[in-house]
Amino acid sequence: MRTTVVTGSASGIGAATRKRLEARGERVIGVDLRDAEVLADLASADGRREALARVGTLCGEGLDGLVTCAGLAGLPGRPGHVLTALNYFGTVELLEGLRPRLARGTRPAAVAISSNSTTTSPLAPRELSDLLLAGDEKGAAALADRLGSLSAYAPSKLAVAHWIRRHAPTPDWIGAGITLNAVAPGKTETAMIAEGRADPVIGPHIDRFPVPAGRSGQPDEIAALIAFLLGPDARFFCGSVIFCDGGTDAQARADDWPAPLAK
Ligand code: NAD
Repeated sequence: MRTTVVTGSASGIGAATRKRLEARGERVIGVDLRDAEVLADLASADGRREALARVGTLCGEGLDGLVTCAGLAGLPGRPGHVLTALNYFGTVELLEGLRPRLARGTRPAAVAISSNSTTTSPLAPRELSDLLLAGDEKGAAALADRLGSLSAYAPSKLAVAHWIRRHAPTPDWIGAGITLNAVAPGKTETAMIAEGRADPVIGPHIDRFPVPAGRSGQPDEIAALIAFLLGPDARFFCGSVIFCDGGTDAQARADDWPAPLAK
């Protein structure tokens, strides 16, 4: 039986992923603040350490899959450092910490969750994603707090996408037989979006975000893509950041990507 760790498994995309994997007979070890096999706060360094230790006890030597869904959106009242801590370090430290176990797993695959805000948000200060990619947790937290979490969200997800692209094609990952990719969802009807809608400042703007498909995504539509990337038919995917957003990115950035190699 395959074993997959899913962070943020209690709600939304993580819960839908858990349901899909269990329906195909896989064992899921959920990591979340509640309703999970491993209860841990992935926004704190101690919580991440505890999560890695507990997961290690539960899964044993080898692990077959890892999906890092735990994340928070930007909100006017939420400090920026919470997003850099959870969305970025709560992702990459789990990937790094569980990589040796994945290397001992069967047909191992890891999927991180980025976002289409990476390419469609005007609020994406590059200095923040650069600090994150440099591993400067303190510096990133300070800048994120100055910017606020609304501006910190897209850079936290951009840094995740770039981390995946930097690491996936290396000897530690694909060289060890582990596929590593990211999914970049657009607006998807989960508790995260409900929380945004309920906010008096950003709530009125949530449904103004252009989605050519004319609707939001459903968590199971994102979970279907994640489950595919974890499965036997996706072994040639390496370092892909796959947008699943009803056309928002394509509409906003039609000719920006693919881009020819700069001379
Ligand atoms: P959600 O709120 O339904 O689920 C997020 C989960 O993360 C929850 O179960 C929550 O308890 C958990 N979590 C929050 N803080 C945590 C912490 N400190 N430690 C451990 N777990 C914690 O939201 P969702 O929409 O399913 O989000 C899943 C991922 O998808 C997130 O990374 C989010 O940024 C990303 N995303 C969502 C959308 C969207 O429109 N819903 C769009 C793009 C990207």
